[in-house]
Amino acid sequence: MAYDDNNIFAKILRAEIPCDKVYENDVALAFKDIQPQAPTHILVIPKGAYVSMDDFSANASDAEIAGFVRAVGVVAREAGAVEDGYRILANHGRDAHQEVPHFHIHVFAGRDLGGMIRRPPA
Ligand code: 5GP
Repeated sequence: MAYDDNNIFAKILRAEIPCDKVYENDVALAFKDIQPQAPTHILVIPKGAYVSMDDFSANASDAEIAGFVRAVGVVAREAGAVEDGYRILANHGRDAHQEVPHFHIHVFAGRDLGGMIRRPPA
């Protein structure tokens, strides 16, 4: 899948639309999700143009991957989520219902997050 320069996170990176920024390093930007699903719901995105985890893991440089993972750790720590716990999640593609085609990791915290994934209907 080709990268779409007009996706919403590309526009946030170009500062064409605002975001509630919580952290930034040289390779990653973190901001609050516009429709939070937990008291803490932060998105961490690479600054490079990667469609999803598949693209990022295959094509990002080691420095981008290291800096990105470090950013996720900092975000969780700065959110005060280490002691009680947090969940990270990345959706890739149709079955995972990925909405925005720019790789991102969700960081959820601030309440009991329940079971890992929803079970299929019986
Ligand atoms: P996905 O389903 O692709 O993993 O998640 C996309 C996430 O991006 C959703 O949780 C959605 O609420 C969030 N989102 C979509 N548009 C915007 C936006 O313009 N600003 C912010 N901060 N979050 C957004």
